[in-house]
Amino acid sequence: MAYPLIGDNAPMALREITPDEALRRQRAGAILIDVRETYEHAAGMAAGAIALPRAQVAQGIAQIVPDRDAEILAICAHGQRSLMAAQVLQQLGYRNVASVSGGTALWIEQGLPMAEAESEDADFFERYSRHLRLPEVGEAGQRKLEEARVVVIGAGGLGSPAAFYLAAAGVGTLVLADDDAVDRSNLQRQILHTDARIGVSKVRSAAQTLMALNPRTRIEGLSERVTSANVEDLLDGADVVIDGADNFPARYLLNDACVKLAKPLVYGAVHRFEGQVGVFDAGRQRGIAPCYRCLFPQPPPADAAPNCSEAGVLGVLPGVIGMLQATEALKLILNIGEPLAGRLLMFDALAMRFRETRLASDPECPVCAPGRAFPGYMDYAAFCSGVSR
Ligand SMILES: [Zn+2]
Repeated sequence: MAYPLIGDNAPMALREITPDEALRRQRAGAILIDVRETYEHAAGMAAGAIALPRAQVAQGIAQIVPDRDAEILAICAHGQRSLMAAQVLQQLGYRNVASVSGGTALWIEQGLPMAEAESEDADFFERYSRHLRLPEVGEAGQRKLEEARVVVIGAGGLGSPAAFYLAAAGVGTLVLADDDAVDRSNLQRQILHTDARIGVSKVRSAAQTLMALNPRTRIEGLSERVTSANVEDLLDGADVVIDGADNFPARYLLNDACVKLAKPLVYGAVHRFEGQVGVFDAGRQRGIAPCYRCLFPQPPPADAAPNCSEAGVLGVLPGVIGMLQATEALKLILNIGEPLAGRLLMFDALAMRFRETRLASDPECPVCAPGRAFPGYMDYAAFCSGVSR
């Protein structure tokens, strides 16, 4: 009967040493490599450590340490990944390898010397570390978010949660447009504003909250009504437009401008206990994705479409819808997932149910039909009050 041989083929035991032992060996010439990810360096690194993320150890080590007999100490956050890295190093033929148990956390706890974060932008890596962990976002995606410009029309019920989360997520520039001032009756749902800022312009109040949350985000504001005269300036350079308007003239105007300028429009609306959200991307996908007018060619008669101040709304409802809008905006910027283009998602808070309908683009649409020239802006107030010009 043959027994497996023990000897050359058996894996070497992985050696673990304490942080202070590691420091002693490092001072005696051992090479300390920090195998954490770049975003984890924000709080600093063990002094003298060389950054080499774990996934790059196999490829990168020979450049740093060509000598297989050199002593290499691997350190990570808590001592698990460094064990795996040490194993990789042994498999590569490095004979003198150890893992630092307890990792950088214990190193710091024991007051051992630290080096300043290697990265020039520690705030970026620390603030967005939970995004950077997602392969679908990562550093490249987060940089994309930082370069993005999102226009949010309305700093009210929908604009509040949308802008709040977009700023937190690291959208570089948020452009807010609202001609209103904060009213006490807004505070039940418009969470960017505070009791102390009643009477202050909503744009200014919103900017204050957003800058306090994320000083990296640039806030631009327009405290005026959006009209066909200023809409194109407002949307200039936008990657995504969020419709948080509370009136139909603004909604049709935005739709037409977004089709003309080829901007994706993330639409949201709320009414009492129900809300809906969708992405209108007809400007970029003529004849494929619908626009708002494909869905609603005519505005409802004024008396059939009461707004929040007339019909009332459950305070959390614009929160749900506004956050769905923010989610779609992030996906559009990052170009991940399946956008809500050509679909209308409806939410019923009382039943706690989401329902979705497919939306087709209308080949006869007066604004987005393929090959149709832009018909020009119209008198939206008259159009929406049912007065034809
Ligand atoms: Zn259309």
